Order: sequence, then structure tokens, then C-alpha cells
Amino acid sequence: MSAPESRETLYAASSNAGKLRDFSVAAAVFGVKIAVLPGLAEIRAPAEEGATFAANARLKAEAYSRVRPGLLVLADDSGLEVDALGGAPGVRSARYADDAGFDLIDSEDADGRNNLYLLEQLREHSQPWTARYRCALALARDSVTLLTASGAVEGEIIVEPHGMGGFGYDPLFWLPELGKTMAEIDLETKQRLSHRGRALQALLQRLRSTPC
Ligand code: IMP
Repeated sequence: MSAPESRETLYAASSNAGKLRDFSVAAAVFGVKIAVLPGLAEIRAPAEEGATFAANARLKAEAYSRVRPGLLVLADDSGLEVDALGGAPGVRSARYADDAGFDLIDSEDADGRNNLYLLEQLREHSQPWTARYRCALALARDSVTLLTASGAVEGEIIVEPHGMGGFGYDPLFWLPELGKTMAEIDLETKQRLSHRGRALQALLQRLRSTPC
């Protein structure tokens, strides 16, 4: 069996710049480094067929760690749940507009398409459009899940985008207690209160007290 890596570096099975930035900021507080899994682009991505964020996070962590023996592989699955839409887009958040064949705009930008489609779907529902982001994390080595954690943040979807930061649905995701969207808050605040920041903090606390 290969020697376990130092726990100071977790290898993220994601090339999403927004997620990596969120992870790095949250992990720095624990003295942990987040690096992209070596050769990630060449590894065939597993099909995200789980019915829940947690199932997809485990599935990804186990699949990626199988092909990079000895490394601590961190995988996440996350998304938006909107109450008026029965919890949609949920695990389909990244592909919400494309799943529906929504092609009103000719855009290369999946986030832009998803945001427009979300507003289109909500038009007939009365406000407030309560919603939450959820994030599930799994840490695996050699195809075995060692730790899991999850986090959520409550908010509301608003009718017009605000802010230039963040990614995905952030310009539409309003945080009532801050009076700002997720795209308007600084990275420190985001890591403290976001679903991803909270999930990572929980996972890193467990990592501290659990020998892996
Ligand atoms: P995943 O890569 O399967 O986890 O898909 C996550 C999708 O959910 C993203 O592509 C976004 O559409 C959405 N999402 C998850 N977390 C966030 C966030 O922090 N901000 C904005 N959108 C998010």
C-alpha cells in the first residue's frame, strides 16, 4: 500500500475556480492547503448519478482517489434548493437550463443560462422565493471515504442580479441578514457563512481530531 500523504494538503477533485477559491480561503484558517488533484483533466469524470448531494460527493471522492493512490482526495457536490420549485434545481443545479433544453439566449455561459431559466421558472410563484445552498463534502483515500461533512446557508432568490463576485446563482441569492447577495460579499465573509465554507470547516475540524 502506498504511504499516506501529509494531511496538510487535500487534493480537490474540482477545477471550478469559484469552488477552489472558497475552499482555499476556508482551509487556510486551519493551516491546510488545497491543491488541484494532479492530472485531473485526464481522469474520466464519474457520472453524478446520486440522488443526494452527499451520495454524489462520496461517489466522486471514491472514484478520483482510486486513480491517485495515497492522496487525500476532497470532493464536493453542491447546489441550490428553491422551496417554490419543490427543491429544484437541487443536484441538477449545474445543468438546470440545459436539462430543460432552455435556449432562449445563445450563451456560452452556463451560469447565465441557469440564472435566466431559474427566474423564468419562478415568475408564476409568489414571493418571497426562499432558498438555500447546500454543500456535501467527502474525503477519501484509495477509494475509501474517510470523512464527510455538510453545510447549508439560507436565503432568498431575487428578481434581478446584483454583484460581480462569486459564481453560479450568487447574483440572485440574497442574504437577508446582510442585505446583500452572495455575489456582493467579500471572500472572508463568504467562507464564514457559505454552505461550502461551513461544510469545509466541519470537515477540517473532524480531520483534526480523526487520524486519517
Ligand atoms: P456541482 O459542480 O455538481 O457541485 O454543481 C454545483 C452547481 O450548483 C454550480 O454549477 C452552481 O450552479 C451551483 N452552486 C453550488 N454552489 C454554489 C455557490 O456557492 N454559488 C453559486 N452557485 C453555486
